Amino acid sequence: MTPVSAIKCRSYERDIVESAVRKAVGLLGGMERFVRPGERVLIKPNMLAAKAPEKAVTTHPEVVRAVVRLVSESGGIPSIGDSGAIGSFKKIAEVTGIAAVAQAEGAALIELSEPEEVTGAGTFRHFEISREVLHADAVINLPKVKTHGQMLLTLAVKNLFGCIPGRRKVQWHLNAGVDKSAFAAMLVELHGLIKPRLSIADAVVSMDGNGPGSGRPRETGFIMAGEYAFAVDYVLCRFLGVEPFKLPTLKAACDKGLFPENPAINLLGDFSAPEFAGVRDFSLPPGTHLEWTIPETARRFLKDALTTRPRVDKGKCKLCLLCAQMCPAKAMDGLDTGIKINYRQCIRCFCCQEICPYGAIDIADGWLLKYLS
Ligand code: SF4
Ligand code: SF4
Repeated sequence: MTPVSAIKCRSYERDIVESAVRKAVGLLGGMERFVRPGERVLIKPNMLAAKAPEKAVTTHPEVVRAVVRLVSESGGIPSIGDSGAIGSFKKIAEVTGIAAVAQAEGAALIELSEPEEVTGAGTFRHFEISREVLHADAVINLPKVKTHGQMLLTLAVKNLFGCIPGRRKVQWHLNAGVDKSAFAAMLVELHGLIKPRLSIADAVVSMDGNGPGSGRPRETGFIMAGEYAFAVDYVLCRFLGVEPFKLPTLKAACDKGLFPENPAINLLGDFSAPEFAGVRDFSLPPGTHLEWTIPETARRFLKDALTTRPRVDKGKCKLCLLCAQMCPAKAMDGLDTGIKINYRQCIRCFCCQEICPYGAIDIADGWLLKYLS
């Protein structure tokens, strides 16, 4: 039985968060079980964008601080690293409060920018993973619990996508983004290459709705931890009221025989607390994507009619053109009148929604999907 711990945590006050993280990790055997003296430990929070902690876009700095302290106490040498989706890493680190934590706690802050080639053993043969990740003795994964336009939720397994340096992420979206199950399979294989020793999820304030960049912060009140990222994701899905195997990464892990349909999970901590009864009305991103085994003309029709698509809110768009520059399919044009999206070309990777600093891109259903629902 793989253990997953959950500890109530109703605020981001430093002492409260530290106590919750200590308890959650303590129930798993303590940080000494995961970190040996002298080991270089890379702590991987979600540092998607330069957003203040209360926006719930990034892992809260107090969660990062607590983990840095536990690693140091165990004799490990902590560093904090990620590759953000947009803007300078320095700015992301400053605005999210993570730079201040690194400085105060004496941890190195590392942008995961240098790719190193790795040969995968599964379906995906060629990976480029951050050198800093590959050369760390251990990785501790700190996901922020959020919805995700393409992958339904971004939890522990998806958080490791940030270990692929920035530019390379876009290429993965191009290769696999049009096919959600292929993308999920890639994430599962990436997890197998990184093998985080521990995942500690920041579900104190999560994000629902239009995640991962522009959703609604939701108080969910827990720190959850586990050695096995898939088990953490499974428990989080149950907590949020989402059927676990609707999460493409769990489905892909199950299909690959890496995660059972009926997992034996040893639930530790506050699972019997009334608060764990589940989050009500956790709102998921609209719709989903089709995968294609049909002729091109029908496929094009159905793509227009049924799939979700990015939609630019002209009122919010500042025409900064970041989305057009990053769009892997070159499907966006910046015109005087606004951003124009060529939906024929668009691969529905939702990089643009993730990247837009102004929350100007949301997800719209295709006309038939809208009609049917
Ligand atoms: S949609 Fe967002 S990223 Fe794209 S141009 Fe407008 S503000 Fe910039
Ligand atoms: S328009 Fe947006 S969703 Fe479509 S391919 Fe470009 S970045 Fe991806």
